[in-house]
Amino acid sequence: MASDLHSYRWRRSARAKQLQVRITPWQGVEVVIPTHTSRERVRAFLAKQRQWIRTTWSEMQSQLADADYALPRDLNLRAIGESWQVHYRNAEVAGLRIHAVGRSLTLQHAGADDSTCRAALRRWLAQRARVHLGPQAQRLSAVMQTGFRRLQIRGQSSRWGSCSSNGTLSLNYKLLFLEPPLVRYLLVHELAHTRVLSHSPRFWRLVADYESRWRELDRRLGEAWRDVPAWVELK
Ligand SMILES: [Zn+2]
Repeated sequence: MASDLHSYRWRRSARAKQLQVRITPWQGVEVVIPTHTSRERVRAFLAKQRQWIRTTWSEMQSQLADADYALPRDLNLRAIGESWQVHYRNAEVAGLRIHAVGRSLTLQHAGADDSTCRAALRRWLAQRARVHLGPQAQRLSAVMQTGFRRLQIRGQSSRWGSCSSNGTLSLNYKLLFLEPPLVRYLLVHELAHTRVLSHSPRFWRLVADYESRWRELDRRLGEAWRDVPAWVELK
């Protein structure tokens, strides 16, 4: 299950301009430290953030404790405006098959356990993300004139996406559960990294050209992990 609050993870980053704390329910607390930051600054920063970290973490933990881990009966993919019903059917089939008809998804399996069903649903989500978020990224990339070349869909536990300087955009299929403006902002942010790698003023100006509400959306994105259903994280 989720890690303990005391297990902070530290990451040195040449890209980061400021000290940052990221909290996610399954990965715990990650502190991002720009290179050449003194220990004193890190300590002072954490002292200031401590209360916020505690509160946010305990909110996340109580949500996890109340969470429903049962296999989902529906999937509300807000990012793409689709709501799916999910049915599970025991049948004499080899392996596990997923049929999609309309907005109804049927998992046919011969006595597969919950974990196998969850894995199949995650694969289906990843396909859905590729089909829908890929073209969206392409359209935005054309407008922003970025060097986006290749799309990867993954299921990261603590990142919504990333982008490398060689134009590989990596998106988390869990974005499907978020509101469209958050997904659009994440795409703008990551695509902007193909042009400016660091979080420099130049980078934020570029982001602001395409998303004026970036400050608010960036903050909301950090809290949006609570919108991902708990079963998705359960292996
Ligand atoms: Zn960034």
